[in-house]
Amino acid sequence: MASKNALVAATLAAACLTASAQLQPVDAADPVAPLVNQLDLDKYKATIKGLTQFGDRRQGTARNRAALDWIEAQLKSYGCMNTERLRYDFTEPVKRGPVQLQPVRAGGPAAQGGGTLFGKRAPIGVNTDPMAQPDEKLRSLNTEQTPPGTSPRESVYCTKVGTTRPDEMFIVSAHMDGIGFGEAANDDGSGTALVMELARVFNAPGVATERSIRFILWNNEETGLNGAYAYVAQRKDLQGIESPKGSGRYPEPTWLGMIQHDMLLFDHGMPVPKLDAAGKPVLDARGQPVYTAPKDQRAEADVNIEFQVNAKQADGAAKLAWALRAANEKYATDYPAAVGNRMTNTDSTPFMDWVPAVSLRENERGMQIGAGWNPHWHQPTDLYSTYSDKDFLLGLNAAQTTLAAVAQLTGAKGKP
Ligand SMILES: [Zn+2]
Repeated sequence: MASKNALVAATLAAACLTASAQLQPVDAADPVAPLVNQLDLDKYKATIKGLTQFGDRRQGTARNRAALDWIEAQLKSYGCMNTERLRYDFTEPVKRGPVQLQPVRAGGPAAQGGGTLFGKRAPIGVNTDPMAQPDEKLRSLNTEQTPPGTSPRESVYCTKVGTTRPDEMFIVSAHMDGIGFGEAANDDGSGTALVMELARVFNAPGVATERSIRFILWNNEETGLNGAYAYVAQRKDLQGIESPKGSGRYPEPTWLGMIQHDMLLFDHGMPVPKLDAAGKPVLDARGQPVYTAPKDQRAEADVNIEFQVNAKQADGAAKLAWALRAANEKYATDYPAAVGNRMTNTDSTPFMDWVPAVSLRENERGMQIGAGWNPHWHQPTDLYSTYSDKDFLLGLNAAQTTLAAVAQLTGAKGKP
């Protein structure tokens, strides 16, 4: 149990940290605050750290399967006992196409998912060079590559069954695979740990929800959302069907909303000119200034909740986004949330025409991450040790936001 003392101790332990997660004042009539108070920064960090023991968790490798087993064991230890695997086949191409690096300041201001790339931009891309990882131990852990050809893959999930509406559910998810020859600590250890922490809180003894909640960790996000597409294809037509008849059991409760979490730590702001040791701007081969992210989490950091304005379920998704923002205003401790309309490039996309679907991120995916705001994205530097407590705290605030909103939307009751 996360006592107030434990939180205070954690805060003192990080003496140089100015930001800190504060406990919510508990109103006896409010069932949500005691649940939010079960989250704490040290537990969230420990779960991310646990995931990084499997390196970049690249799909189709032994380290990816070991991570899946570890996640499943953790979910069970939290009391989310009924874990299941969604199985599908994936075909790894013989050779992947060259990675497209975005020019630093070329024309063409359109962002992925729609919208516009404003302001200064830094290069983006995927590291495909194992030797770019200077840590030999980690390089060795990340040695195995996905074998070409078709082979089975799995995602893992578990379900908190609702007391009065077991036939309806919210999906709370993140992707557990990564790339880039680092530890995939932020992309997407931060989202995976968030989903696991919420599974822990909602499955604690004494907590009940009227509606069901399914906690899903997707595989193959980085290869094109394949795990999420497989789930939609296999399970969308099973929604709301009682099986066996008269059992009161619903293997696929009707989807009410889908909330995806992808990269939640790093919001340092727009890239700034990179300076050399003498304080002079570094220039590229064309004599143009090189831009890079500021060193520290910006004071204005926020959680970005996005829906996709062109989705068939856009109206419902916008409502879900605003419900998350309202939950953030009431229950998050350190960072606000902003709502945007350009959700893209994550596992909520396969769901967005079927059910209101949103994503939570550290930045807007299209116009900010797409403009190079996170220099560790898909890079060997996406390591646990790269991030500060102010970075981890943004992820914790995203957890508070989703936990509070889902508690309200599913009618959570009881004291953990
Ligand atoms: Zn991701």
